[in-house]
Order: sequence, then structure tokens, then C-alpha cells
Amino acid sequence: MTASTPVPVPASPALASADAAPAATTDTRPGTGPRTPGTGPRTRTVPWVAMYHSVGDRSDDPYRITVTPDRLEAQLRWLRRRGLRGVPVAELLAARARGAGGDLVGLTFDDGYADFVEHALPCLRRWGCGATLFVLPGRLAGDNAWDPLGPRKPLLSADGIRHAAAEGVEIGSHGLTHVDLTAADDTVLTAETAGSRALLAELTGAPVTGFCYPYGTVDARAADAVRAAGYTYACAIDPGPLTGPYALPRVHVGQRDTSVRLLLKTRLHRLRRRAAAGV
Ligand SMILES: [Zn+2]
Repeated sequence: MTASTPVPVPASPALASADAAPAATTDTRPGTGPRTPGTGPRTRTVPWVAMYHSVGDRSDDPYRITVTPDRLEAQLRWLRRRGLRGVPVAELLAARARGAGGDLVGLTFDDGYADFVEHALPCLRRWGCGATLFVLPGRLAGDNAWDPLGPRKPLLSADGIRHAAAEGVEIGSHGLTHVDLTAADDTVLTAETAGSRALLAELTGAPVTGFCYPYGTVDARAADAVRAAGYTYACAIDPGPLTGPYALPRVHVGQRDTSVRLLLKTRLHRLRRRAAAGV
């Protein structure tokens, strides 16, 4: 805990009080409780997984996909002060499978922006956190050409992805080129799921177990394709009626998410999300 680290957080009594709340006396931790694995009420909630995209300059950010490095710093500080630690999704799921993981939250970064290495990695390292980076092996060193509005943001090259992996970041697939899988024909669906997994395994030299649906859109057919491709889990955003390890909901965390809003989001998550078998 490095409570004395100077981090810019908006000064308001409410924020200060939320920041100062001791984790041991509150019951707002996302995920399952660590004290009595398998029996506590928290085991009924699905794991809390935060969704980020870009970390950097957000002067032109029409999709609200960017947080500043200072904001990420404040959010990770908030997590750590609550006794929580950000980890890759695979690590979170493995811990929960053991009946543990009550002090863990998943951190995910979609699209594989080049600013991940420059801005997110140092921050994660400072706060002792890990993360999953969902990349597009069909757009290595390209940009976010699928977004009609907003600035073109560079994506990591193969070397950049390998660098992140070497730092302990879990590399997952976001498909090949960022297409809506619910609108893809069978050939495209197979290429985006199985094809991207094979390319990433070759690129990183390690098995790839995590998938993330572009735009968060998923249906049963897309989830089946992801499972058939050999992934062990997949992240959505709001998966609707689908539940389980191939339709993990995530919580968007953005620039506006100060301590109070994060607290509300964790509580809302506990109310909305019931656990499903296998997660
Ligand atoms: Zn995306």
C-alpha cells in the first residue's frame, strides 16, 4: 500500500471518504469472498472484470475509450486501497475455480493500442497489478480503422505484443480484424476465432485461452465458435441472456470513474450479475 503516493484525485468530501473507507469493514468487494470459499453470499456474483481500451491523450475521444494515465493511476490506487488487486482474467478464473480470488478483479484492455505499453504497463507495474490485453493479429501495427469517428490510434506491432507478454500481461484474442461476429458468415467466424488464436499462439509462443468479442456483441453461435476454437473463456460487455465462461460481462471503466462511481459500479454489479456455472 502506498497511500502517500501523490495521485490527482478530485478533491471532494465524498470522494475523500470513499477513498479512506477501510476495506476490512466494508462489504463492497466485487467477486467472491475469500474467507469461506464456496459458502459466502459473494459466491453468487460473477467475477468483476473491468474494461479499458486506450490510455493516453483524450482530447479527441468520441467513443469515450480513453483514460488518461493519471486517471488509471487513481483507479488502481482505489482498487489497492480496498484490498483488491487487478489480474489477468485467466488468473482470476483460475483462482475462483480453487474457491479463492475474492480479492481479485480482472483488468482488460481491448484492441491492443500502442499506448498500452507506454502508459498502462508502467502504471500496472507500480501498483502490482496484471491485466489481459485483447489484440487483433490481423491488424498488427495498424490502427483502429473500424471506428468511423475519432482519431486514428496506432495498434501494437508483433514486437509490442511480445513485450507486453514478457512483462506478464496475458495476451488474448479480439478476433482478427474487429468484426461483429454475430453478423459474420461461417468462414469469417472461423477465421476470426480459430484463425486469430493460431496466429497469436505463433506470435507469443504460448497457448491463447482468452477471447473478447468485438463490440461486445455475442450470440450462441459466436460463443460456440469461440469454444470450438479452443479458448477457455470469452469476455463480452453485457451478454444479455447468455451466461457462463464464454459470455463474461464486463464493466466499462472510463475517465469519469472516480472513486465514488467505481464504488457504485461494484455494488451495481453485485446486484445485477448472478453467478453461472463455471465462472
Ligand atoms: Zn474492440
